[in-house]
Amino acid sequence: MKVSLIPERCIACGLCQTYSDVFDYHDDGIVKFAHTEDLTAELPDDKDTLLAVKSCPTKALIVD
Ligand code: SF4
Repeated sequence: MKVSLIPERCIACGLCQTYSDVFDYHDDGIVKFAHTEDLTAELPDDKDTLLAVKSCPTKALIVD
């Protein structure tokens, strides 16, 4: 599945990484992928990643 980040929407709440270690943070707490600096990544289908996406309070995470 394709997952995209919209850092401008991220409020650095830290929630997404509690669900999936696909997500990591810059020093200021804004979301990034753990494995790449890209804003879009093709990831294996995974329920924890999906839960993280759905749990983001500001819709900073998008799955296609
Ligand atoms: S859950 Fe959303 S707002 Fe919170 S850190 Fe992750 S991307 Fe940012």
